[in-house]
Parts: sequence; structure tokens; C-alpha cells
Amino acid sequence: MTSMELLKQRTADIVSLQTTSAVLEWDQQTQMPPAGTARRASQLALLKKLSHDMFISSQTEQLLVAAEGEAEALDPDSDDSAFIKVVRRDFDKAAKLPTKLVEEIASTGSLANEQWQAARAQSNYAKFAPWLEKTLDLQRQVANHLGFKDERYDALLDLYEPEMSAAAVRTMFGQIKPPLVKLVKQIVGRGPDFVDTEPLTRECDEEKQRTFNEMVIKAFGFDFTRGRQDRAVHPFCTSFSNNDVRITTRYDSHFLPSALFGSLHETGHALYEMGVAGRYDGNMLQGGVSLGIHESQSRLWENLVGRSRGFWTCFYPQLQSQFPALGDVTLDAFYKAINRVKPSLIRVEADEITYNLHILLRFEIEIEMLEGRLSVADAPAAWNAKCEEYLGLTPANDAEGILQDVHWSWGAIGYFPTYSLGNVISVQLFEAASHSLGGEVPAQIERGEFAPLREWMSTNIYQWGRKYTPVELVQRSTSRSIDTTPYINYLTRKFGEIYKL
Ligand code: ZN
Repeated sequence: MTSMELLKQRTADIVSLQTTSAVLEWDQQTQMPPAGTARRASQLALLKKLSHDMFISSQTEQLLVAAEGEAEALDPDSDDSAFIKVVRRDFDKAAKLPTKLVEEIASTGSLANEQWQAARAQSNYAKFAPWLEKTLDLQRQVANHLGFKDERYDALLDLYEPEMSAAAVRTMFGQIKPPLVKLVKQIVGRGPDFVDTEPLTRECDEEKQRTFNEMVIKAFGFDFTRGRQDRAVHPFCTSFSNNDVRITTRYDSHFLPSALFGSLHETGHALYEMGVAGRYDGNMLQGGVSLGIHESQSRLWENLVGRSRGFWTCFYPQLQSQFPALGDVTLDAFYKAINRVKPSLIRVEADEITYNLHILLRFEIEIEMLEGRLSVADAPAAWNAKCEEYLGLTPANDAEGILQDVHWSWGAIGYFPTYSLGNVISVQLFEAASHSLGGEVPAQIERGEFAPLREWMSTNIYQWGRKYTPVELVQRSTSRSIDTTPYINYLTRKFGEIYKL
């Protein structure tokens, strides 16, 4: 056997160990009784240690070096060439971090998360502050071990968005912030009652919600022979192979959008995972390439399709027949209600426009803290000042301010910008698809036909798994680098129409 083949076998075993952990994590979130936590933690720790040790072993390294030699003769655009590049990338990252540091991050993460939960419940920042300090210190060490060219933040961002830089994120925000802030001001000027969201809070039976949502996600292309949808406290998507993709949702019988748009969002993630080429299954090229590209798909199916007027022209009569309480609510009123823009303090409740301002604020604060230009003690005041500047609101306490998100307690610094990148890329891809399908996509959505859009995404994005970097994928599929213009135009057009600006 060649070294390439041996390396594929070895990394396939590592992928199996990693996806076995994912099965246990899915079970923990959806099925496991609460008393199972302690044993599950040790099961997961063992599996993660086994896969990590196997991956950074000298045996893997020797195979990798030999396979790199064999790959020199290959077409640089071949799957095998990409496979070697991805293994090298993952290997270097894993091998550069001392085991002691990895273990310390894991144990600090679970303790910090526990303290964050208590601190948030009591709105007591002082309780979380020492853990945030420790987390930042550990993440600085991670960045220093991984190495970076310009800024320390780049090394961390790269873990979630390969080959993206803080400078590129700053450029993106520099382009989208002024028009977004202006748009929000104009919308707020319309008064708080311009759009009525009361109909969304009317009683809606959970079982009927499930039936309706399943009908829609099947129409999108979610394949129930290769996936499942279950209930969980937090909606998420996970995959064990492209033939086994799991999504979760939560229901609120007095707020229809919660499960509905949550399901459409997670289905976007699932379509991506299900669409990865079968030949990559069990290979390190399996799965989505980055959080930003992943989020471009969840946002595309949730917002560009699921919150469009055309989509509801097709599906609203069916929704009304399921929920007679909506009988007196016109399509126009419903469409406006699900698209209401209102600055709020909580990121996860934010609308399509203000969401990005929540992300900008977090990006600016975490980068300043990481570089030591903002102290952990001063961070809440900085948070509140930015909140006032971008959203016109000041949190009454830290629970609805700096303590609201789980990410930092996990040690995830550099993660937030991928949400806004996803928003920007979603529109760029949607427009490229629409253009190459002869401008037919909106009409197809209005007829409930989603296959052409999904197949375009499959051909251009999904099938490639991790073969191309995010920047390469966008360039190949849109013939441009990441571009914020389509996104700004889309928001201006859509919300200009809704708010008659
Ligand atoms: Zn998502």
C-alpha cells in the first residue's frame, strides 16, 4: 500500500473516533437522563484523548511526510492533494499545542461555564471575571503556540474560519456598519407600532408546529432517510457522516417563529452536511469547511428563503389552515411581523439587521481584551457604551449585557465574526445562484420549488466539503472575493419596502 492509502486508513479511524464522540454528545443533548452526566464526561474525555493522541503520534507524522512526498506528483487540484493539505493543516494545529495546555483549556472550560451560568443567573460579573481573565490568558497561549503573522487574534479566528484575518473582518464591518446604523435609525423613526407582532404570540399547538415544520424542511430537501430532527434545549446541527445528520429544535406554544425559523436555520446547516460528496465520507475532507460558510447556508434557508414574501405566498395558506388563530391575519401583516426590526439587548433575539451590530460589539471587545488593550474589569462599561452607540440601548444589568453569551466561557474567542461573515456570504451566494439560474429563483421559491437553489449550492459549495478554503469557495462560485455590496443592497431593498423608507 502507498503511504497515501495508509494515511487515509489511519485518519479514517480518527474520524470514526471523533464522530463517535459526536454521537455521544448528541445523545447527551437529546436523550440522556440528567444523572448520566458524570459517566458521559469520562466517556467523551477518553474518546477525545484517544483521537488526539492517535492523530499527533509519530506514526501519523511519518505517514504524512511520506504521503506529502507522493503527493508532489499529483495535480494540485486533485482530491488527494487537498486531503494532504487538510491533514497537514489539522496536524500542525493539533501538534503545536502542548497536551498540558489542551487539558487545562478543557478543565477551565467546564469550570468557567459553570461559573458563567451562576454569574449570569445572578447578574454578577465579578463572579465570572476571574474565569474570563484565565480564559483569555489560555487563549493568548494558544495563539502564541499556533503562531500568527499580524495579530494574535488571527490565530484564533483561523480555528473557526480558515485563512480569515481580523483585518478582513474589520474591513467587512467598516463597509456594513454605516449603512446598517443608518437603516436602523430610519426604521426606529417609523415608531414602535409600525409593525405588529402580536399575531406571532397567539397559541399554537406544538404537534401542529412539528407537522408544518417537517413539511417545509422536507420541501427544502432535508432527507429523513439520512437525518433526524429531535427536541433539545438548544437548537443545533451535528453530523456523523453525510448519511447521518441530526438537527434539534425547541417549541414555544406561544411563539411560532421560535421552532419554525430555528428548524429552517438548522436545516440549512444539515443540507450542507448532507450535500458533501459521498467519496469524502469518513475522510478528513468530510463536513463543512468553516463556521462562516456553514452559517451562510443556515441564514440563506432561514432568511433569504424562509423570511421572503415569495415563500409565504406559497406556504401561508397552509400555515393558516393549521393555525386557525391566524385566520384574520393577512399575508402582508404576517410577512411584516416575522421581519420586524427592533434594536434589542439580546443577540439571539435580534432581527436580520441589528444582529450584525451585536456581533461587531463582541468582535471589538474580545479583540481588545485579547490584546490587553481593554481590561476584564473595564469590559462591562465598554460593552454598555458600545450597546448605546450601536443600538441606542443600555443594559440594565450585566445579565442582559456582557454576561449573555456562552461562547467566552467555553474559551471560544474569535468565533463571533463568523456569524456576520455568514450573513454577508449568504446573500452573495444567493445572488450568484439566482443569476446563474436565469433570475428564476424567487419565482421558484414562490412555487415551493427549492431543488434548483439547493442543487446549485450542492454543486458550488456543499459537495466540496473541506477541499477548498472559504475564500476559495466564494471566489470559485461567485467569481468574486467576499463582497458586502449584495448584502447591503438586499437589506436596503427588503426593509425599505417593508418600512416604506
Ligand atoms: Zn447556525
